Amino acid sequence: MANMLFEGVFVTNLNISLFDQFIPATFIMLSFQPEGLAYNYSPPEESMRLRTLFLLCLPLVILSGCAKSSSNKIKIGLSLDTLKEERWQHDRDLFVAKAKDLGADVLVQASNSNDALQNSQAENLLTEGVNVLVVVPHNGKSMATIVESAHKLGVPVIAYDRLIMDSDLDLYVSFDNLKVGEFQADYLVKRKPKGNYVLIGGAPTDNNAVLFRKGQMNVLDPLIKKGDIKIVADQWADDWLPVKALQIMENALTKNHNQVDAVVVSNDGTAGGAVQALAEQNLAGKVLVSGQDADLAGCQRIVSGTQSMTVYKPIKKLADKAAEIAVLMANLQSPTDKVTYINNGRVEVKSILIEPVEVDKENMDATVIADGYQKKDEVYKK
Ligand code: BGC
Repeated sequence: MANMLFEGVFVTNLNISLFDQFIPATFIMLSFQPEGLAYNYSPPEESMRLRTLFLLCLPLVILSGCAKSSSNKIKIGLSLDTLKEERWQHDRDLFVAKAKDLGADVLVQASNSNDALQNSQAENLLTEGVNVLVVVPHNGKSMATIVESAHKLGVPVIAYDRLIMDSDLDLYVSFDNLKVGEFQADYLVKRKPKGNYVLIGGAPTDNNAVLFRKGQMNVLDPLIKKGDIKIVADQWADDWLPVKALQIMENALTKNHNQVDAVVVSNDGTAGGAVQALAEQNLAGKVLVSGQDADLAGCQRIVSGTQSMTVYKPIKKLADKAAEIAVLMANLQSPTDKVTYINNGRVEVKSILIEPVEVDKENMDATVIADGYQKKDEVYKK
């Protein structure tokens, strides 16, 4: 049953729709048939039997009323690419908690980086009657069709963190992703203004990965042109897989006889792969490495010195904002937030972008830990 795909509390909620269809029908039958039969000269025993049946079923009829009112609650569909990186678990939990505070239910699905699955899961959410759809696309281009399907049903779509391309998307809520890339490269060039650089991009299917790279190149390009920085390897890690980053880094080290000064890596998961390859050559901590997400493992590497920095994106701000707007849209209202416009290949999408924060071992306590995003004893665990 499709319902089994939903997580946690939401399964029970879906069953209500069965009540919605079944109980009102029962109610109509039971409340009107006895009188109708009486006028149709039913024998008195028959009429009695139906009245008894009606009284017996009264609690069910009342229950039907309750089910109905809870099904009138706003339903938000949250379609996630993946829960692989730790951050997405924070996103899901914080989003669901905020939506619940605002009186809405959330149906969550995650597709394990499978385009076809994410598409059919999102279609299922629409079938379940969600009032608004919030999507983190695995593939920004493939998910364009879901925007069309949703609009046919009058359901607005919000792209969460990653943009959905080539569609009439209603809203995009994310971080300033160009700035994320600029922070990553800027941190490294300030410490190594000259030298051999390796670039490890994220999933090429993710528009964010493209934006991170664009931000990185804003910083690197002038230094490459000057001849101070040489890019000695440049590849993208499919699906943001740490194992791909490990392979890319191993090959880059072999090809350059370990002469690498800095690695511009786009997130902490893939930075983990790069650091593993460096460790195999006793280079961990000697070569600069960037990251993003303030994952626990990333933060641990930063305080122990094998990763130079990460970019912390306060997920609570993103999740809260997206949940607030989803509820507004479900109530046919528009957000009053300041927006910028981002072209997705078809339209200028109203976008809300939150500021990211550059983090290294100096400000770890004052940012990631002070915010409660990671626990101090875990980050510093030996
Ligand atoms: C997100 C990053 C994340 C990456 C892999 C990107 O779209 O912005 O925070 O690390 O996907 O999931």
